[in-house]
Amino acid sequence: MKDAEKATRPHVFHGITRSMCPECRKIVDAQVLIRNGAVYLRKYCLEHGWHEALISSDADWHVRSVAYNKPGALPLTTATPVKQGCPDDCGLCPEHQQHTCLGLIEITTRCNLTCPTCFADSGEGYDLRLEQVEAMLDRFVAAEGNPEVVQLSGGEPTIHPQILQIVAAARSRGIPHVMVNTNGVRLAQEPDFVRRLAEHGPTIYLQFDGLHDSTYRTLRGSNLIDIKRRALDNLAEAGLYANLVTTVARDVNDGELGDILRFGLEHPAVLGLCYQPLSYAGRHAGEVDPLRRTTVTDVLHRLEEQSGGLFKVSDFRPVPCPHPDCSACAYAYVHEGEVTPISRVVDVDEYLDLAVNRTVVDISNELRPVLEALSGMAAVMGVEKAASALSCAACGIDLSALDIRNLHERFFMIQVHGFMDEYNFDLERLMKCCIHQLLPDGRAVPFCAYNILGYREEVRREQEALRDR
Ligand code: SF4
Ligand code: SF4
Ligand code: SF4
Repeated sequence: MKDAEKATRPHVFHGITRSMCPECRKIVDAQVLIRNGAVYLRKYCLEHGWHEALISSDADWHVRSVAYNKPGALPLTTATPVKQGCPDDCGLCPEHQQHTCLGLIEITTRCNLTCPTCFADSGEGYDLRLEQVEAMLDRFVAAEGNPEVVQLSGGEPTIHPQILQIVAAARSRGIPHVMVNTNGVRLAQEPDFVRRLAEHGPTIYLQFDGLHDSTYRTLRGSNLIDIKRRALDNLAEAGLYANLVTTVARDVNDGELGDILRFGLEHPAVLGLCYQPLSYAGRHAGEVDPLRRTTVTDVLHRLEEQSGGLFKVSDFRPVPCPHPDCSACAYAYVHEGEVTPISRVVDVDEYLDLAVNRTVVDISNELRPVLEALSGMAAVMGVEKAASALSCAACGIDLSALDIRNLHERFFMIQVHGFMDEYNFDLERLMKCCIHQLLPDGRAVPFCAYNILGYREEVRREQEALRDR
């Protein structure tokens, strides 16, 4: 008798995790499948059936990135007990796998723009009081000991009436890197405000989606490129530096990545770029297509094409501090206009392998500081620590005597960070998150949980009720 022919599955079953039903938002099991060189989540909800979502367009990158995972650090204190199970116990609860590398404070929900794409769903709303922010900063210091980075966000933080006092409050608690996440409108319109801000030395995290007004009209609802340029010129004049933050949307601005890079390399106020593939959290322009979305690896490949090889995919590494699927990073040395990615002068993998496989061995190597700079989400270009961390005798780079004000001429950082939504949500990534929203009640919630699991709405309800009393 002839054997019946067995069909072969059209995918490799790569693993299993927990995700979310995009219809009812219940947490459900999800298979991780590799198909045609890409990686998908396939999940089943008892009520709403099967759903699939693309999580990476480059299966090789995804598989290799596992090697970049490393043990997390514990915060000094946690704020919530394990009661209902992840992700309902944030936090941080004692089961969380990474401390807070970067604490975010949403100091206002108000904004001077009403962008069609806004994961924070900002517009109207309220400002936190200065005393509330101070208490949150105190709690952050108690949980972390020596926190490295706090980002003030919103809404639009520069329109908070006490923004200068808030930046000063963070600095006075010894937090070395205070970042202000802004659309740049006030920075462009009020050079005097920029000068006063400069007295407190924050780094600016500037929304910068491209070089064409059409891009801004689609994502932000108005023509903004002149505003962005003016904001950057005012920063340069006041001696402040910025990282450009680009929301990357398929068929909107994914053809501009190389031009944004070249612009950033040339502008004296720009220290680095952060490309963020559009997440479908909050408000977002255009169709939702979880199978055709832009992923972290799409950005890497497009950047290689569009930069003429200035940065190649091979120059990037998964960032090991959060889950390695979350983020990729590359640094370059820039000297007299020549751009040299660090990975071309340092065998980064050799040292990362040592760090991952031999965690009990003290790698007292002169390249260790380079690895630390690469591996920490808390690394912020443009600060003394980055200058000393990136000094390296072995690769011929010595920044120890560098005038910090000229750092932008020496090093440039590119980060690609893929935030999650209800389609690509992966509980494994959430548990290793190192970017945490600091809440007025003292909790710290992983940023993706804050965006999509109802924590933001809970905080807003509480704060609005407080103000109605
Ligand atoms: S995401 Fe982290 S803090 Fe939140 S419930 Fe899960 S383990 Fe706890
Ligand atoms: S994306 Fe930023 S600038 Fe636009 S509405 Fe939201 S908070 Fe304001
Ligand atoms: S914010 Fe989201 S994407 Fe970023 S590290 Fe945390 S879990 Fe990962």
